[in-house]
Amino acid sequence: MQTALEQYDPQIYELIRQEAARESGAIRLIPSENYVSKAVMVASGSCLTNKYAEGYPNRRYYEGQQVTDLIEKLAQERAKKLFKADHANVQPYSGSVANMAAYAALVDPGETIMGMSLVHGGHLTHGWKVSLTSKFFHSVSYPLNIETGRLDFNIIEELAKEHRPKVIISGATAYPREIDFEIFGRIAKDVGAYHVSDIAHIAGLVVAGIHKSPVPYTDIVSTTTHKTLRGPRGGMLLCKEELAKQVDKAVFPGLQGGPHMHTLTAIAVALAEADTPEFVAYAKQIVKNAKALAEKLLEYGFDLVSGGTDNHLILIDLRNKGIPGKKLAKALDRARIVSNYNTVPGDPAPPFNPSGLRIGTPAITTRGMKEPEAEQVAFFINKVTENIDNESVIEQVGKEVLLLCSQFPVPDHFIIPGKNNR
Ligand SMILES: *Cc1c(COP(=O)(O)O)cnc(C)c1O
Repeated sequence: MQTALEQYDPQIYELIRQEAARESGAIRLIPSENYVSKAVMVASGSCLTNKYAEGYPNRRYYEGQQVTDLIEKLAQERAKKLFKADHANVQPYSGSVANMAAYAALVDPGETIMGMSLVHGGHLTHGWKVSLTSKFFHSVSYPLNIETGRLDFNIIEELAKEHRPKVIISGATAYPREIDFEIFGRIAKDVGAYHVSDIAHIAGLVVAGIHKSPVPYTDIVSTTTHKTLRGPRGGMLLCKEELAKQVDKAVFPGLQGGPHMHTLTAIAVALAEADTPEFVAYAKQIVKNAKALAEKLLEYGFDLVSGGTDNHLILIDLRNKGIPGKKLAKALDRARIVSNYNTVPGDPAPPFNPSGLRIGTPAITTRGMKEPEAEQVAFFINKVTENIDNESVIEQVGKEVLLLCSQFPVPDHFIIPGKNNR
């Protein structure tokens, strides 16, 4: 298969090879990224990419579904078991589409939804102004408490009572603390709103029992499958039986056409992988690594939003260092440490040049790195920060990073075209 690619499209083959080399020769700290298993990679590159399967198992609009029905039912069953949910829809193309479908299942255009402000850690699709979710629906954003960097349920409750949203969204894309879904559920119930929880980032921690599950307190749970859950890029919706029909209709035919069967197949594989003691140990180590990294950063005088982390990610407020997030992110990238610049709660700077840096440990943990390496990563970050304008130091850090990477090779399931493929 890989030889075919090399033969027919040497240009793309070479670019994939370069990306594989980049991913193995860098410390990847973007908290939404990971390395998938070989099994997931094989399933997502399989012949299922050839099949159209509009509809749902036993209710398709095309023939030839002898196998696809079985695969989708397996994926649904695995998702339901893993998340202890009544119903699972495994068709959303990605997290953004899953969110749109969740709202569409519950709200009419023009009605009000309420989610976390993007600049405080919410996702675009939680009703941020440039997202269609704020154009189709009326959107209200809740902030964090700027003093503590944490959710403030007094503010959220007040806003909910004032605006009476039809949907309240819990969940975030840049929040380093545990989210109390139970309180969100109570506030939603009090104002007659539906509660949608978006666990795109923390799904892997939830299935491992490290983060409390939103399932008992939520009408619809939305997630991606490719972040801490370590599957292919995709989305999923989970809900109670009462909402199953609405949710399914919102995904197809409401928002999507044919499901990406190759992705759906790989999701089934990832769900099986996540239902193992090895995955629970992996998820625990993600959090241990994040805590070790955070502790060291604090020792180096970094200011962390909320003072630390409970999960897989850390948000550094760089204002006391006098370096903009983008400048540090770019310097770190030259030292083979890949992160992303990010706003911090109450950021005076705009989202395209914000004061913060967002990092996380899912990918380095997949490589087998533990607390000592997480501390070493903090050391590297500090060294680059202290020498932000010294290219030779940055280059030296890059060499040390490469050495560390070589000691923690990307697992052999990682596909480099033409190499190590069984
Ligand atoms: C990543 C993310 C999404 C969107 O996922 P995509 O797959 O990029 O569309 C939605 N919600 C949250 C909270 C996220 O972090």
